[in-house]
Amino acid sequence: MKYDVKSMTLQELTEEMKDCGKPAFRAKQIYDWLHVKLVRNYGEMKNLGRDMIEYLDEHYPLYAVKPVETLTSQEDGTKKFLFELHDGNIIESVWMQYKHGNSVCISSQVGCRMGCRFCASTLDGLVRSLTPSEMLDQIYAITLLTGQKVSNVVIMGSGEPLDNYDNLLRFLTLISDEHGLNISARNITVSTCGLIPRMMELANQKLQITLAVSLHAPNQERRSALMPIANRYEIHEVVDACRYYFEQTGRRITFEYSLVAGENDSEENAMELAGLIRGINCHVNLIPVNPIKERSYRESTAGAVRAFKNKLEKSGIHVTIRREMGRDINGACGQLRRSYKEKQC
Ligand code: SAH
Repeated sequence: MKYDVKSMTLQELTEEMKDCGKPAFRAKQIYDWLHVKLVRNYGEMKNLGRDMIEYLDEHYPLYAVKPVETLTSQEDGTKKFLFELHDGNIIESVWMQYKHGNSVCISSQVGCRMGCRFCASTLDGLVRSLTPSEMLDQIYAITLLTGQKVSNVVIMGSGEPLDNYDNLLRFLTLISDEHGLNISARNITVSTCGLIPRMMELANQKLQITLAVSLHAPNQERRSALMPIANRYEIHEVVDACRYYFEQTGRRITFEYSLVAGENDSEENAMELAGLIRGINCHVNLIPVNPIKERSYRESTAGAVRAFKNKLEKSGIHVTIRREMGRDINGACGQLRRSYKEKQC
């Protein structure tokens, strides 16, 4: 961490410069080039001077993610980017345009160790967690590539963000910093499969970010069939942690529910779900599961999705059906990276 300048706060960078006998104002200049002007190497930092640039190059190597493939959806303009990290690992990020602004979905890890049965990101397990700067850099690179400002960030790509907790918190500090891109916490969503101790810690931070919790089932038995993490954290305890998150932050919880034909999409399932989350200030985001070829799960029919939604609404629960963006370009989490890797072999 010490030498990764793009992961340092302005205060840390200022201390670092002072420790190296450099004037403190250099820190502000460098920070501004990195996090506002989004330059990718020291050579572009025009007000630093040659000696300073050489010094930084030698002591603080600067890494930037490298775009290796971009796919654009013909249906809705959604773009998927594959980026190469400095160690050769590949990650994916998504750019979506909405009426209220552009949204970027970033990865928090290379691979994932949570093992959700329908998810492509986890099929080969976890390779490594991303550094704060690698999370930031997905947003910075996409801003440069599209030429458009990013207003919303969702940490919903590959990986479990709360399994990379310290780096996630540092990323959140940096991305919402008024001296950086200054994306408001209210425009940031962190999605988790429900790591309770970390959910509580995050709640105690009292940030104004939205917590999205992947529930995907109305009871413990169904949930553990789809999500191995349920064997560690019981569904009612996850729901209690959500209540706590709301109490601490005042932020409405989002429950994510991927509908899998015959597994979790009956009207009884909807009724049971309504009972489970009753009284929580929340909204439910339904998405028909995006089938991956390695598993036999199928998406629910349009009729089943509608019936499920109606049942929840009749119980007074606020429901949205997630617009399926970019399905024609390997929409589901981790699918694009996988097919890219398969092509390389
Ligand atoms: N690890 C985090 C975030 C990553 S995935 C989490 O579990 O929330 C973001 C969301 O996409 C999660 O709700 C996840 O369960 C869901 N997801 C993953 N693969 C999917 C697929 N093939 N179809 C539908 N939803 C999927």
